[in-house]
Amino acid sequence: MTHLSPTIALENDEENDLFNDGAVRLRNPHIAEMDQDILYHLALGSGSHDLVEMFGDIRFVCMGGTPKRMEGFANYIMDEIGYKLPPGATLLDISLQSYRYSMYKVGPVLCVSHGMGIPSVGILLHEVIKLMYHAKCKDPVFFRLGTCGGIGIEGGNLVITESAVDGMSRPYLELPVLGELQRRPAILDKQLAQDLKNLRTESDPFSVTVGKTMCTYDFYEGQGRLDGAFCEFTNEDKVRFLHKIYEDNIVNMEMESLCFAALCHHAGIRGAVICVTLLNRLHGDQVSASKETLGLWQEYPQHLVSRYIKKQMGLPVLVPQRNHPQVVRSPRKHKIVKQESASFE
Ligand code: URA
Repeated sequence: MTHLSPTIALENDEENDLFNDGAVRLRNPHIAEMDQDILYHLALGSGSHDLVEMFGDIRFVCMGGTPKRMEGFANYIMDEIGYKLPPGATLLDISLQSYRYSMYKVGPVLCVSHGMGIPSVGILLHEVIKLMYHAKCKDPVFFRLGTCGGIGIEGGNLVITESAVDGMSRPYLELPVLGELQRRPAILDKQLAQDLKNLRTESDPFSVTVGKTMCTYDFYEGQGRLDGAFCEFTNEDKVRFLHKIYEDNIVNMEMESLCFAALCHHAGIRGAVICVTLLNRLHGDQVSASKETLGLWQEYPQHLVSRYIKKQMGLPVLVPQRNHPQVVRSPRKHKIVKQESASFE
């Protein structure tokens, strides 16, 4: 069987993946030969859309699990960087027609949902990396903003992944391709992780730990939970396993970092994974914090990423550029105007 790429990707091979001008290069000779490339799960195509015009200015790609969270982040980053929409305009989900992922663009920031687990984030990354290529984006930085279980870290704190391992503590993504296992090293940009950590301030209500993440294929049995539909191990087995990985310096568990790290690295794209802990797995299995608390905690990764983006854009890091998304000067007068308008219907 002929291979287009080696079974185990060499670590430094990826450094050649960006062109000298920072444009993303694809490790796939077939794409350039295709008449058009349909990014099926994004409802976009290189033949149907002017991807350079639409996305050529993207510098930051931010992804997270759910469409709602990414819509929330898009609105948040809009105020943080002071990006103005024309009056009457609103953000629209660019991938609405796909019914798979959702995507919002706010100036140089692309906000995309990636769903749950390695297969889902993997499919999205293939298409977003191709989107960066077709759009001729220069040196884009990718972020995953997510949630995780802390290993020895209480709920409501941040973990930035330094490197990712699978459920067997192996530092690569293993993927069956044409009946053979391909291994891709799950390497993240260490400098980017440190730069993000350094953006924490004294007044933040969370700590930031940079460390090793265990990425599993499952939330229940795969993360040693006793509360799934099935469980064939004892509480003692679970405690032994969690303490072992704690001693091996694993600081959190989630379900996407391995693939995110491996595909970003393979594409030569700088990437970071920033997750908020929902609980300390050394103390339990169930996510039992209130909805409000969970909502608040899920904003914490957004704060660090927003500060990073603002710093890169040359904006003041700790000051939102816009406080009121609606340009309403007087809410009282606005109410009267609305009432009067309604009476002439
Ligand atoms: N996400 C996970 O994958 N695990 C947790 O424990 C919490 C969030």
